[in-house]
Amino acid sequence: MNGIIFNIQHYTIHDGPGIRTELFMKGCALRCPWCSNPEGQSSRIQPGVYQSKCISDSVCGLCRTVCPQEGALLFADGKLTAIDRAKCTGCMACADACPADAIKPWGREISVEEAMREIRRDKGYYDRSGGGVTVSGGEPLQQAGFVEELLRACKEEGIHTCCESTLNVPWEKVEQILPWTDLFITDIKHMDSAVHKDFSGGGNERIIENQKKLVRTGKDIIARIPVIPGVNDDAANIEATADYILEDLEGKVRTLQLLSFMRLGEEKYRSLGMPYGMADLKIDRPEFQAHVSEIADYFNSRGIHCLVGTREKEES
Ligand code: SF4
Ligand code: SF4
Repeated sequence: MNGIIFNIQHYTIHDGPGIRTELFMKGCALRCPWCSNPEGQSSRIQPGVYQSKCISDSVCGLCRTVCPQEGALLFADGKLTAIDRAKCTGCMACADACPADAIKPWGREISVEEAMREIRRDKGYYDRSGGGVTVSGGEPLQQAGFVEELLRACKEEGIHTCCESTLNVPWEKVEQILPWTDLFITDIKHMDSAVHKDFSGGGNERIIENQKKLVRTGKDIIARIPVIPGVNDDAANIEATADYILEDLEGKVRTLQLLSFMRLGEEKYRSLGMPYGMADLKIDRPEFQAHVSEIADYFNSRGIHCLVGTREKEES
């Protein structure tokens, strides 16, 4: 069983307890404009272009030599500047040939056994810190078969497992990994489905249904709100979110984490020739952080354990 990942991060402390190894799976149906991992959105392996690293077409030109798709590589002033995505087949011959790392392969196939070899290297850290393995993305449950096998292999070796999922998938995909997953991390982006659809490209109905089903399984759940100025940080949405957690989710989230908007991933958007949807947003950072703290205070005043950020140690 192979999966397509775009990163394996070792020694991460943000997505679940302790020190963790995190696998980022490719493919997601949503298109949140603040997404810091645009390379995780497409389920295909894609070449990313880093123009400043290109030696020059006239001196090198190896990518042009090996590319089977005429006109897929676009040059300006002698440097590779972009890839015509309509012509590119994703064969990665250009990335393999480039001597300057000017073309980065966003994504690679990995087998469960290969992933387990990487995971086992970090086992001492899990044991000492109460950590484990997290699968994230993208939306990892778009590759539920691979995730199921991987998490089962982890559980068979006594490793704590976490899945960070939008839950924007058929419930059967969630059920598939339930026996092998200790902790779920999931977003509550906006309570109004029309607004949710406006910014992310998809409504929230299926997410909400799945979150309600998930709390009934008794699984450990961390909920997150990516707090985005002007999108979901108004009092009406915050109040509706608190009502939803207390009533529909029966208050059964271990922690609510508020993730303040950050400008992240712009270089990756450029490498993929994708526009960055938050480019025009300007915020006063201290003022915004104070606002996020007030939101956390509000949730805590409603009896929901809420913190700003992801540090698990603050949760005990
Ligand atoms: S990935 Fe393949 S098809 Fe696409 S630009 Fe590179 S060599 Fe050409
Ligand atoms: S192979 Fe790399 S360095 Fe050479 S022309 Fe292509 S992008 Fe530039």
